Amino acid sequence: MATPPLDRMADFDLTDEQRQVRSVVRDFAEKEILPFVEEHEQAGRYPLELIEKLVPMGLMGPMIPERYGGSFGDVVSYGVICEELARVDWVVASVVSVSNSLCAGSILKFGSEAQKEHWLPGIARGEIICSACLTEPGGGTDLGNMQTLATRAEGGWRLTGTKTFISHAAHAGLFFVVASVDRDQKHRGVTAFLVDPHRTEGITISDFPMRTLKRDNLAEVHFEDAFVPDDALLGEPRKGFPILGSALDTGRFSVAARCVGQAQRCLDLAIPYAMEREAFGHRIGEFQMIQQKIADMVCRTEQARLLVYRLGRMKDAGIPRASMESSLAKLCASQAAVKNALDGMQIFGGYSCAQEYEIGRLLMEAKALEFGEGTSELHSRLIAEFALGIRKQ
Ligand SMILES: Cc1cc2nc3c(=O)[nH]c(=O)nc-3n(C[C@H](O)[C@H](O)[C@H](O)COP(=O)(O)OP(=O)(O)OC[C@H]3O[C@@H](n4cnc5c(N)ncnc54)[C@H](O)[C@@H]3O)c2cc1C
Repeated sequence: MATPPLDRMADFDLTDEQRQVRSVVRDFAEKEILPFVEEHEQAGRYPLELIEKLVPMGLMGPMIPERYGGSFGDVVSYGVICEELARVDWVVASVVSVSNSLCAGSILKFGSEAQKEHWLPGIARGEIICSACLTEPGGGTDLGNMQTLATRAEGGWRLTGTKTFISHAAHAGLFFVVASVDRDQKHRGVTAFLVDPHRTEGITISDFPMRTLKRDNLAEVHFEDAFVPDDALLGEPRKGFPILGSALDTGRFSVAARCVGQAQRCLDLAIPYAMEREAFGHRIGEFQMIQQKIADMVCRTEQARLLVYRLGRMKDAGIPRASMESSLAKLCASQAAVKNALDGMQIFGGYSCAQEYEIGRLLMEAKALEFGEGTSELHSRLIAEFALGIRKQ
């Protein structure tokens, strides 16, 4: 549970249903996921059995409408789910976020009815884990410059290129792939595909060893003249960049919500430690410099949470694109998660580096969230361009 004085943080405007979602997911996550996370990390094991536990709770399809087998309630509730799952495990939250924001969200918005019926129920039932194949070895920020090529073939397309840092790839039943039909045209050549890795020849998946998040089994995905049929095309050729933009808009919401969960977790760990650990005959939480860190951590978490919930409410109100607010939420929340992990580690002193303590692991995991779905530099640039009127929503 959250530390009692903080248990009503930024929830004054949640509805009773949203509070109920939070309470149920928190209870589930603390009992069914948290106790196994460190074991998975040490073993470098993908937490498939933890992901399976999400299915009966309806947590694999919180953005998928009921008619496709999902449990969609509202966007704020989806954010609360991502927040609570990320509070205990990066990877479990990531599987929900990638599958729902990037993949299911894109299918719902841009897919044909046949594509919706083909993919969405399987995602909601947890039978299809999704991967988003966006980043390439040459760079992830400048997505308009992607080198993976899609060439026309009879009855479909051939994909050639490499995607890197791909979460969930080895276990995925759906790859959301962006490729270029014309590299010279940069973002105007980008085209989106829904690829079934089990039915596509010419795809190889190789390990991408990480210093942290070993339980995610990140991978490189190689496409070598891989044939995908016409019905794998999402939207129209050369119209993939707006699809990507829309996917990332929702993706940034869920990543920001995950960052709030991580920032909160740092507080949940640091507060009891500060009130137990003693130095110079006092609990360290009585020292002003430790109190300053706790105060900063609370402020950052609350600011980030408010930005995330506001963004969710904008989406629930039907505002189609909220790109500036997405960047604001993503930037502030990811930096809150990183800074809270750093302050949390300082409070734990040397023990923050010991394997026994979770706080040290949270720093690297928070840092990874500062890169994913747009780095801080990208979001700062976008916010400034919106503010200056150089860029429009
Ligand atoms: C744990 C983890 C999981 C991931 N999962 C996935 C996944 O599932 N699917 C996927 O496709 N990708 C995934 N990624 C990749 C992630 O999205 C990229 O790392 C990210 O987009 C940045 O790309 P890059 O690492 O190539 O950095 P680069 O694009 O090479 O950038 C390097 C640095 O330069 C800065 N920079 C770039 N352009 C500018 C500019 N114009 N102005 C100022 N600074 C600039 C960047 O902000 C960054 O600090 C994952 C990454 C991690 C760490």
